[in-house]
Amino acid sequence: MKVGFIGLGNMGSGMARNLIKAGHTLMVYNRTRDRAEALHAAGAKVAETPAEAASHADVLITMLADDRAVEAVIAGAEGVLQALPQGAVHIGMSTISVTLSRRLAGAHQEKKQYYLAAPVFGRPDAAAAAKLFIIAAGPRQQIERCQSLFDAMGQKTFIVGDEGSMANVVKLAGNFLLTTVIEGLAEAFALARKSKVDPNQVLEILTASLFPVPVYKTYGAMIAAEKFEPAGFKLRLGAKDNRLVLAAAEEVAVPMQMASLVRDHFLAAIAQGMSDADWAAMARIVYQSAGL
Ligand code: NAD
Repeated sequence: MKVGFIGLGNMGSGMARNLIKAGHTLMVYNRTRDRAEALHAAGAKVAETPAEAASHADVLITMLADDRAVEAVIAGAEGVLQALPQGAVHIGMSTISVTLSRRLAGAHQEKKQYYLAAPVFGRPDAAAAAKLFIIAAGPRQQIERCQSLFDAMGQKTFIVGDEGSMANVVKLAGNFLLTTVIEGLAEAFALARKSKVDPNQVLEILTASLFPVPVYKTYGAMIAAEKFEPAGFKLRLGAKDNRLVLAAAEEVAVPMQMASLVRDHFLAAIAQGMSDADWAAMARIVYQSAGL
């Protein structure tokens, strides 16, 4: 398929590479051009503008930081919305708000284009290895049309429903749960450390018994070692997702007290200059409040 790909950050670079490997024809765009040039060597054409990447595409994929970045490339006279051909699909794979996802669906429909939301679970290593879990929602026929792309980027596609924003809700719910795991591990390890128990041993025991789960292993190892660089998922993006969870919860009147607690830990971490560390660095705030 002819694919336009916008956003070649930690996640997008690996995803775009896997699409090329699977035989798709890619035209890529990134705000900072050197990241796009790196894909050129792998066989992609480099677009000068987001509109150029969209203008010849059957399918346009965006993997951008946040709502603001997505709006910047979609809207405006030079935006994707004007350039994408009728009948083409935009697959939004970034983690964005439920409300923006809804607006995108409407805006594409007006232009006789299609919109799918397909946010992902998995960190950059999973993106590079085509092992993402893809949460897709939107018109069923269009999901089927794009299945070969999903297969090239992920190990499994879950189909949530026919409104794109439903996939964004699932993604945000998952990331919310991850923040509670990070918070919980940090509190448990603080207790262990202050009780003269090695947190590495706690981790070893818990992941070999109650929680034999990759998420506990990955974040537990980072938090036990207090090693949060290089970031797989930047803390400022994690804080963004926390804001999106709270906004989605407010819209439907769901109190989420754990999300509120974690919000303050994100803010404290940002205030202390940890925005570009991995989001598990939030554990430092928990350690500090325990006097560690
Ligand atoms: P990143 O910071 O590495 O890359 C962000 C990309 O957005 C870059 O290509 C950057 O050029 C682009 N961008 C930012 N602001 C822009 C703007 N105003 N205009 C145009 N382009 C702009 O982030 P990432 O880790 O690749 O994450 C991308 C998306 O995937 C985010 O929504 C993130 O929440 C989500 N996500 C990340 C992970 C992870 O572990 N890293 C996992 C799942 C989902």
